Amino acid sequence: MSFPYEAPVSQSLFDRASVVTPGGVNSPVRAFRAVGGTPRFMVSGTGPYLTDADGREYVDLVCSWGPMILGHSNPEVIAAVQEAVARGTSFGTPGAGEVELAEEIVARIAPVEQVRLVSSGTEATMSAIRLARGFTGRAKVVKFAGCYHGHVDALLAAAGSGVATFGLPDTPGVTGAQAGDTIVLPYNDIEAVRAAFAAHPGEIACVITEASPGNMGVVPPLPGFNQGLADLCSENGALYISDEVMTGFRVSKAGWYGIDGVRPDLMTFGKVMGGGFPAAAFGGRAEVMAHLAPAGPVYQAGTLSGNPIATAAGVAQLRLLDDAAYEKVDAVSAEVRGLVTAALAKEGVAHRLQVAGNMFSVFFADAEVTDYEAAKRQESFRFTAFFHSMLAQGVYLPPSAFESWFVSTAHDAAAVERIAAALPAAARAAAEATA
Ligand code: PLP
Repeated sequence: MSFPYEAPVSQSLFDRASVVTPGGVNSPVRAFRAVGGTPRFMVSGTGPYLTDADGREYVDLVCSWGPMILGHSNPEVIAAVQEAVARGTSFGTPGAGEVELAEEIVARIAPVEQVRLVSSGTEATMSAIRLARGFTGRAKVVKFAGCYHGHVDALLAAAGSGVATFGLPDTPGVTGAQAGDTIVLPYNDIEAVRAAFAAHPGEIACVITEASPGNMGVVPPLPGFNQGLADLCSENGALYISDEVMTGFRVSKAGWYGIDGVRPDLMTFGKVMGGGFPAAAFGGRAEVMAHLAPAGPVYQAGTLSGNPIATAAGVAQLRLLDDAAYEKVDAVSAEVRGLVTAALAKEGVAHRLQVAGNMFSVFFADAEVTDYEAAKRQESFRFTAFFHSMLAQGVYLPPSAFESWFVSTAHDAAAVERIAAALPAAARAAAEATA
């Protein structure tokens, strides 16, 4: 397809980047390969807006893939960061900021009695799996097709997100041995989980699931699914790991746990808790966490874990996220969803707008999407046309049909108005698109 706006400065940066970095990016989905065109190189962000290297401003509906729930450059978060930076950037010792961040997390999420800080969601899920294996003395891990848990070797089987975008069934470099203990099941299929436990008695260390998946587009758990997982794990001596890297501190004060109340043994966090810095965590029952070094034998460590700048940003952001903040994000999300679905309906475009708290995405499909197979059946070519029309009109959507959209407390009436103004033409482009 042709792209209505050129972005010459971004294109020249992308050309330079492509010489020195594989594919020109440091995380695959940023390269726009699913939608084509020039990835926008952003130079600044303020509130709900991003500005690219060509000087064009966009309403941001990606929010750094979730973390920027207060919008960009929130003055209180920036002040906390500046104050922390002035005291030094890394000490390699324990620090007060780590205690404060851990206390914030433990205070908000009842199943988390203890927490260990790391630097990325990938590290969090990798470490949680290791801990589950060390705690149970078992090897096998159950995961669901379309759930993405970062680029952990054992979990890169049938993953969503960038893996979904690129249609890679498995990635080269992950050996049979690394993936051999991973059992991949269809999402929302509790009978498949029951059958897996029956087929592998005493062998399954844990079931890991996105608390509410956002990496195959937004596909919430069917009623009772998460509770069913927790029950089957407890009946079979396995740990239930709820990956809240995306939903944690985003969809409510206590993340998805605050919505469905199902108690996991271990949970993983990232994104919002770092306030835009690399901070993530895993935590859960104290009895399980006690197996982690130096308290116990399961090794896990990190030079920059609990980094003072990242923890200062995270603490500042979490402290600003009170009930009123979530009400605001929920309200903006509902407003944008209403506008999107009305615009598409007006043009007669078959679609399903799926929601998990304030996260949502549009499937260009005519039936509810409850698993990865259904997600892949959507008419992604309509998303491509929709995406480029929105981009040309100054609205930045996730550059893939398999990703959640995110809003923030900073998305005010003016930002929503810009989205509303862009939607009619984008809906028309989606209606007219051909495969
Ligand atoms: N788990 C989930 C549910 C995620 O959405 C992601 C990232 O998108 C990860 C884990 C990995 O986090 P990170 O990209 O910080 O490694």
